[in-house]
Amino acid sequence: MSGTLTILGTGPGAEGLIVPEADAALAQATDALGYIPYLRRLAPRAGLRLHESDNREELDRARHAIALAQAGGRVVVVSSGDPGVFAMAAAVFEVLEDLAPQTHPEIAVIPGITAMLAAAARIGAPLGHDFCAINLSDNLKPAETIRHRIRHAALGGFAMGFYNPRSASRPDGFARALDVLRETCEPERIVIFARAVSTPQEEITVTTLAEARDTMADMRTVVLVGNPETRRIAGKGRDWVYTPRSWPAL
Ligand code: SAH
Repeated sequence: MSGTLTILGTGPGAEGLIVPEADAALAQATDALGYIPYLRRLAPRAGLRLHESDNREELDRARHAIALAQAGGRVVVVSSGDPGVFAMAAAVFEVLEDLAPQTHPEIAVIPGITAMLAAAARIGAPLGHDFCAINLSDNLKPAETIRHRIRHAALGGFAMGFYNPRSASRPDGFARALDVLRETCEPERIVIFARAVSTPQEEITVTTLAEARDTMADMRTVVLVGNPETRRIAGKGRDWVYTPRSWPAL
C-alpha cells in the first residue's frame, strides 16, 4: 500500500514560527529526510527514522523520499523556511513529473514562514509594496541570468530579497549583485542584512547601498533591498523601516 509524502517547511528557526500543520505531520511521520542541520533541529522520538543528506543531493533525496512513501511510509521532507522557496518542494515535483501518476504516493505541501518575510517582520514592513525574491546561488542557473534579473527587478521598482548571497564556494556572487544594484539604484537605497533571523544568533543591520559591503552577508543571511520609496523612521527606542503601499503613477 502506498503511503504519504509531506513536504514541509520549519520556518526560519524559532519553534513558535513552525505552523501547527507541519508540527502535526512531523508528529505522525515514520521517516524524515532533509539537509543535516535542518533535521538536527527536530526532536528525536521513537518510531521516527532520520535520513540525513548533504545539501547538494536534492534530487536523490526526493527520489529516496518518494520510494519510502511508495513502500507505505508516512514520509516528511523537511526544508527550512518555506519548502517552495528555493527548497525541496520543486525537487520532489521534478522527480514526480517522470513517474506514472498512478504510482505517486499521496502528496501534501505544507507552507512555512520564509526567511525574507521573517526578516521583514523584524524590521517593520520593508516589503509593504511589490517585491520579488532572487536566489543568488549560481548552482542551478547562470550568473548572467542572476545579473539580468536583479537589473530588471531594480528597474521595475521592486523591493528585493536575496537568498544564498555568499558562501565559501561562491565568495564573489554577492559583490557582483551589489555592482548591478549600484548601476541601477541611488546610493541612499536601503539595504538590510538579516542574519539567522529568529535564532539566538540573530543580527540585523540596516544600511544604505553606498555603505553596503559584500562581507556583511554570509550563507545564514537574507539581504533585503528596499524600493525607491522605502524609508527609515524613528520609533520608541529603535528605528523601523517600511515601504509605503502607494506608488507614483507612471
Ligand atoms: N526555503 C528557505 C530558503 C532556503 S535557501 C526559506 O524559505 O527561507 C537558504 C537561504 O535562506 C540562506 O542562504 C539565507 O539566505 C536564507 N535563510 C534561511 N533561514 C534564514 C534565517 N533564519 N535568517 C536569515 N536568512 C535565512
